[in-house]
Amino acid sequence: MIKFLDLQAVNAAHATEIEEAILRATRSGWYLRGEETRRFEEAYAQYIGCRHAIACGNGLDALRLIFRAYIELGLLHEGDEVIVPAHTYIASILAITDNRLKPIFIEPNPDTLQIDDTRIESAITPRTRAIMIVHLYGRCAYTEHIGQLCSKHDLLLIEDNAQAHGCTYQARKTGSLGHAAGHSFYPGKNLGALGDAGCVTTDNEELATVIRALGNYGSEKKYVFRYSGYNSRIDEVQAAVLAAKLPHLDTDNLHRAAIAELYYKGIDNPLVRLPLYVEPEHNVYHLFPIFCNERDRLQQHLADRGIETLIHYPIAPHQQECYKEYAHLALPITEELHRTELSLPIGPTMSREEATQVIEAINAFR
Ligand SMILES: *Cc1c(COP(=O)(O)O)cnc(C)c1O
Repeated sequence: MIKFLDLQAVNAAHATEIEEAILRATRSGWYLRGEETRRFEEAYAQYIGCRHAIACGNGLDALRLIFRAYIELGLLHEGDEVIVPAHTYIASILAITDNRLKPIFIEPNPDTLQIDDTRIESAITPRTRAIMIVHLYGRCAYTEHIGQLCSKHDLLLIEDNAQAHGCTYQARKTGSLGHAAGHSFYPGKNLGALGDAGCVTTDNEELATVIRALGNYGSEKKYVFRYSGYNSRIDEVQAAVLAAKLPHLDTDNLHRAAIAELYYKGIDNPLVRLPLYVEPEHNVYHLFPIFCNERDRLQQHLADRGIETLIHYPIAPHQQECYKEYAHLALPITEELHRTELSLPIGPTMSREEATQVIEAINAFR
């Protein structure tokens, strides 16, 4: 059986360091907002190349906190429009609507799978205040054109970096390319905790201060509440685990890229389409999506050969029951990707032999 992602193996590979970290955090007698959190924030900020990293409860909170902080700072207002890829995980959209901002869905480029930057400018209105890019599947979504549009129209650039820890654009890490970025350390992400955790990175000190307060009930000073905030903190144990795993992230990502290279070289079936290849520095292969018109039959074919696959994602955000107000939108490229996508096994402990088996099974699909 080839697992989609063997999380037990992923963490067993660093067991000694992880267990040491857990023991240290457990014995410290201090479980929130302490030394482990401070140390992880410092290491992660340095890794991403940002002045500030503010750890929080999860990736969705990281994104929600960014928008809420901009509202508190008076840079965003209820009803403002945020440009966002239509082809994304729903958390990207929830962070916007939760703050009573309006998502403006942009179709992806079907080859890169990222927001199609040629479609952005015509969607900008006087209410547009921000662009959120999502480095979906681990692949860099930033383009020079997006940067220029933000400068030209004075828009905030927010990154959803939940799937792309360690990915770069011209030697800069994703998560440091815009004004602020949200990161998720959900266990299955490239840098994963042993539970929920997330983080915001930014160079903006004022924003960092507001986010830090918002995640702690809105308080900067104990029992004094400047904002009506949330409780979104990282556990010291999770911060310690993440700090122990961070030094291995680049090696883990290179292993993912090596598996991806095998897929690109080996998969040769006219019924299956692969995304456009980019150099490994621009893709940390959180997922390896392929596209097939007969996706469900292909998934069953692989399952019959002991290969576990997943679908990211079966239903587009604008077609979800919670977003009936967007159901009328026609987003055919997004809908097509959701209809045909299948994610192959990939991960830092997957073997070349396993990749070869996956390739052979796909090539035998008729
Ligand atoms: C995982 C993910 C999130 C949310 O992260 P959680 O930690 O699960 O809240 C947000 N955006 C994208 C693109 C994700 O993949």
